[in-house]
Amino acid sequence: MVSKDEKTNVQVLKDLIKKFVKERDWEKFHHPKELATCLSIEASELLEVFLWKDKEPLEETKKNEKIMSKIREELADVFICALNLANRLDLDVSEIVEEKLKIAKEKYPVELARGNAKKYTELKEK
Ligand SMILES: [Mg+2]
Repeated sequence: MVSKDEKTNVQVLKDLIKKFVKERDWEKFHHPKELATCLSIEASELLEVFLWKDKEPLEETKKNEKIMSKIREELADVFICALNLANRLDLDVSEIVEEKLKIAKEKYPVELARGNAKKYTELKEK
């Protein structure tokens, strides 16, 4: 089965969000500070899904319809806020993500980072 992700590019999503905002005349409220705040709040709402719960195996989480429904909802909010912020600042999401991954690859070379969760500043230490 082909997922929607496989046939939808980032610009399609950015355009859907831009249209949604424009139809409601909400651009005037969407200063980057407000959108960054919104992004942080939505990320916190995503975290709240896991609050006070034991860390269960991934497959158990994926089978839990109630939790997955909440995760879907809050993760969508995170993406919407992030893409809305990118729209407002005329940022090319693909470009900035690729740039950041390039930096991360330099900070976390596979030969040093593979299989461990050390911060890059501690990678060269044994
Ligand atoms: Mg939310």
